[in-house]
Amino acid sequence: MKRVINYSAGPAAIPLEVLEQARDEMLDWNGTGCSVMEVSHRGKEYDALHMETMDLFREVAGLPKDYHVLFCTGGASTQFLMLPMNYLAAGKEADYIVTGNWSKAAVKEAKRYGKITHPANMELEGERFVAIPKQAELKLNPAAEYVHYTSNNTVEGTEWHYIPDVKGKPLVCDMSSDIFSRPLDFSKFSMFYAGAQKNLGPSGVTVVAIRDDFLQKAHDDLPTMMSYKVFKDKFSMHNTPPCFSIYILNLVLKWLKKNGGLEAMGKINEQKQKLLYAAIDESKGFYTGLANPDSRSWMNIDFKLPTPELDEKFVKDAKAAGIVQTKGYRTMGGIRLSAYNAVSLKDVEYTVQFMKDFQAKNA
Ligand SMILES: *Cc1c(COP(=O)(O)O)cnc(C)c1O
Repeated sequence: MKRVINYSAGPAAIPLEVLEQARDEMLDWNGTGCSVMEVSHRGKEYDALHMETMDLFREVAGLPKDYHVLFCTGGASTQFLMLPMNYLAAGKEADYIVTGNWSKAAVKEAKRYGKITHPANMELEGERFVAIPKQAELKLNPAAEYVHYTSNNTVEGTEWHYIPDVKGKPLVCDMSSDIFSRPLDFSKFSMFYAGAQKNLGPSGVTVVAIRDDFLQKAHDDLPTMMSYKVFKDKFSMHNTPPCFSIYILNLVLKWLKKNGGLEAMGKINEQKQKLLYAAIDESKGFYTGLANPDSRSWMNIDFKLPTPELDEKFVKDAKAAGIVQTKGYRTMGGIRLSAYNAVSLKDVEYTVQFMKDFQAKNA
């Protein structure tokens, strides 16, 4: 068996220790004589795991008591419609800051439910995004019910390095691709959410954290599975939750805790991105970063080589060296290295050496 260095943008690498524990427990989980996929979600074993996972999430985030943790399904993409469905209506407005392809996808759904305004729209000609707006550039709509933004732009390789001040409006954030990559004051958000498959575990569960005052303002008359209030009241068990995904999320959260939590993770991720961007910036133009330097993502490192042929050769040679899923997003071209939490500093050091060797051979 051979494990590779995996830069997949999502579903992404999961810590090896987590996979090993899941393997060891596959046939007999927790003394039940079955896997976690084969027990009732109403039974006491699963119930304990479910509630523990909510508490672990709260603990790792350092969330104050007045936040509810919800386990939704349908990916982050379903939050794009669930959020406006719960808060907008004819005549209501919301602010959406547009910094990339996923922010646009959120806007597309929100427009079905109310009037959408943009404090900033960073799109350039040719559907390109290279930068995050500065605080002073944000033009907030006083009539907005909430302000939504995307903390890390998975495709474009840009990331917010500050939390916007939205003048007391409820702040909502799609953190799918950088959640728990470093410490953050989560109490600044009325709601944040993330599909698990980038930094938290496998696809299938989307974690939503919502502050009670914001939850209370949600509409009541909604389809059951679209209602935040139902998810909260039923502890995300109105229907069968994605038990296996929540189980892996539980193990990933314990792995995070054991390895020093967000403080430690932030230090490692800071070093990882420094090494990767240094390899780009010190390559004398052989590698070119795609995002503006002050807006660069720590998670998704996008760059290109002098020609598309060399991009292709890079992907191929990297694979031969045990470094996989390095191809850039189809609309971006080039290379994308998604260095989420499960990609170690050692993996990155090996990759940087590969980049230097590749340049020496091909420049
Ligand atoms: C991957 C991603 C999504 C989409 O997530 P799904 O779970 O596939 O719906 C949304 N937003 C961001 C920032 C992402 O990276």
